Amino acid sequence: MQSKINLAERVKQIKPSPTLAVNAKAKALKAAGANILNFSVGEPDFDTPDHVREAGKAAIDAGFTRYTAVPGTPELREAIAARFAEDHGWNYSPEQIQVSCGGKHGLYNMAQALFGPGDEVLILAPYWVSYPDIIQLAGATPVIVPLSEEKNFDLEYEVLADYVTERTRGIIINSPSNPTGSVFSREALAAIGKLALENNWAIITDDIYDTITYVDGKLPHILDVDPALAAQTLVLNGVSKSFAMTGWRIGYTAGPQHVISAMNKIQSQSTSNPSSVAQMAALAAVSGPQDFPAVMRQAFEPRLDYILEALAGIEGVSCVKPSGAFYVFPNVAAYYGRSFKGKKIQGSLDMADYLLDESKIAVVPGIAFGADPFIRFSFATSMEVIRDGMNRFKEALGRLE
Ligand SMILES: *Cc1c(COP(=O)(O)O)cnc(C)c1O
Repeated sequence: MQSKINLAERVKQIKPSPTLAVNAKAKALKAAGANILNFSVGEPDFDTPDHVREAGKAAIDAGFTRYTAVPGTPELREAIAARFAEDHGWNYSPEQIQVSCGGKHGLYNMAQALFGPGDEVLILAPYWVSYPDIIQLAGATPVIVPLSEEKNFDLEYEVLADYVTERTRGIIINSPSNPTGSVFSREALAAIGKLALENNWAIITDDIYDTITYVDGKLPHILDVDPALAAQTLVLNGVSKSFAMTGWRIGYTAGPQHVISAMNKIQSQSTSNPSSVAQMAALAAVSGPQDFPAVMRQAFEPRLDYILEALAGIEGVSCVKPSGAFYVFPNVAAYYGRSFKGKKIQGSLDMADYLLDESKIAVVPGIAFGADPFIRFSFATSMEVIRDGMNRFKEALGRLE
């Protein structure tokens, strides 16, 4: 059926999530019988822990199936506040916390509450695929600040200062980062904090991977750099990655009261509360034993070591060692300009297509993260897939001429 009704201008400016798109294509090829090794997955390859699943089932059986308070149940918000206090020493009241339908939705609410036409928001590249589009949906302008592989994707004051204008209203930071796994140094966070305080920016810190790390000790955090920054910082976290709960759709934000209230207003006129059942499961995750992320970390670490060693053995490929999350982001630009069967690889999109078509390995092209020299491999998959995948990858690059 042909329809001619018009679409709104705002939707024409954004694109569907490229990571979800690659994953969907890989799954479709697999379903059609192809032997695909899928490195495009952006979620842990673990089941939600038992005690959390039980809490979800118990909520259903107890009839906890009606609307809850828009920003989440008071019990869950209290448990989140207690978790922040225990893990970081931060003092948030339950009223300063919003539970949303996944972390991504928390970002959406924030952008809608904080930014509008004429506002510029700084995004550090390589960035998570959804940041620019969520900012654009709010009518604001994403300003991309490139980070360099040579500096381990850390940020320098001079680089950031170059992109600041009188219209800059905020910055999004993600540490550990998806896609690089890199963590910002204390110096980088201090630079951000200094400019944010001087210019009254909103700082959005996406901490979704903060429990999945491969370094000793506590990660540097913007709020630990200068406690005064709490008055202008929105802390985003959730259970999707730390408790392998991507499908439950529970994320949360802590921040200044007036911003959380504005976000609650938006949530009340859009989704209302996140699923009551999922909130009860999240309550078990946040208030129960905290050893699950460490269990995942123990599985992830040998995979990471294996991949880094394999990549180091491939000529022309470089890769910054991740400090957290479950991705590696190797630079494959040395192979751009080479060809296979007369078809030239011009950039990361061509490379990802080539790897999928010829070697049946699914990766996400770096251009989706604003960094074309790279491709992203997720290692939230089995060691077997990783071994085969790294072999196929090396062979595939070797075939290019
Ligand atoms: C996965 C992820 C999120 C949150 O995802 P949800 O599934 O919406 O909770 C947020 N930021 C980054 C960088 C992520 O990778």
